Amino acid sequence: MISRRQTRAIRIGDVGIGGASLIAVQSMTNTDTKDVEATLEQIHALERAGCELIRVAVIDHEAALALRPIRDSISIPLIADIHFDHRLAVASMENGAQAIRINPGNLGGAEKLARVVAAAKQHHVPIRVGVNSGSIEKDLLKKHGYPSPEKPDALIESALRNVSLLEDQGFYEIKISIKSSDTLTTISSYRQLSRRTDYPLHLGVTEAGGLIAGTVKSSVALGILLSEGIGDTFRISLTRDPVEEIRVGFELLRALKIRERGPELISCPTCGRTRINLFALAEEVERYVQGMTAPVKVAVMGCVVNGPGESRQADIGIAGGNGVGIIFKKGELYKKVAEEELLQCFLEELRIIESEWREKSNRR
Ligand code: SF4
Repeated sequence: MISRRQTRAIRIGDVGIGGASLIAVQSMTNTDTKDVEATLEQIHALERAGCELIRVAVIDHEAALALRPIRDSISIPLIADIHFDHRLAVASMENGAQAIRINPGNLGGAEKLARVVAAAKQHHVPIRVGVNSGSIEKDLLKKHGYPSPEKPDALIESALRNVSLLEDQGFYEIKISIKSSDTLTTISSYRQLSRRTDYPLHLGVTEAGGLIAGTVKSSVALGILLSEGIGDTFRISLTRDPVEEIRVGFELLRALKIRERGPELISCPTCGRTRINLFALAEEVERYVQGMTAPVKVAVMGCVVNGPGESRQADIGIAGGNGVGIIFKKGELYKKVAEEELLQCFLEELRIIESEWREKSNRR
């Protein structure tokens, strides 16, 4: 059982971050924010996948203006990501951003930061202080050297310095991220930061890579931190369709037994006994269960002899080979069908499970 580190609670729209709130899974669009239609299409796909907070890049005034129609058409809180230009931060909040991500130290001085803080107070918008290895101030790099797993101090001090710029202006609705593209530096820097502050932490490994490398790097770093109770929200950064970030995010939480969303798919690795095209079958089932919300364990196994027993923990599963297909529940035979009908029969069973689950959820 993981014991969560206690952090202050903030709210972004209707989503709580820190305190007793669930660990929130978020993503960032990769569309041009000014292209409202394309951005909405991506956010809606992310919402369907379970994304709970969405961040968009605001790189000019037109993008800030686009936040209004975007916010009006989505159901999850909208976060604006701003670099350097305080006017974009203010315009984003005026146009509906429910949180902003800035680096307070690079907005051009205390006066400009004061305008951002005033707008944040007026619109009740929390601020994520986001520092990364590339944004560390020169004096801190000189003092501590470039952040490394053994000595991530420059990142920590940069984050705390930027936080104090907000505190100096009486602003405390803060969450913090310190990103590095190095897995071990990410782990050591968040560990150290969590001992020095009780603001909620946004976890992430920056520039993590494509689907496989990025998933592994992020899962190692974030998995270790989350297992130690560190982290209140996170993004799995992948050079990929952001919907994959959400899938990986929820699988990570599931693997740590922190949160569950939708079915868990288990499938055998195949072996010399496999007499069915299991890869294709598993792919079809995986595609189907991605649209489900029922928290069931689904197994796809390569042989009828060992498959049901090996996946006894699954609520429902299939196995097949040599012309025969079986559907089993908790390891016991439920239905026998012709192999060519196996997939369709199984998807129908999953459809029934999902509709019963939805009906039950609506009654609650
Ligand atoms: S379920 Fe059957 S095919 Fe799959 S690994 Fe086990 S023995 Fe091999």
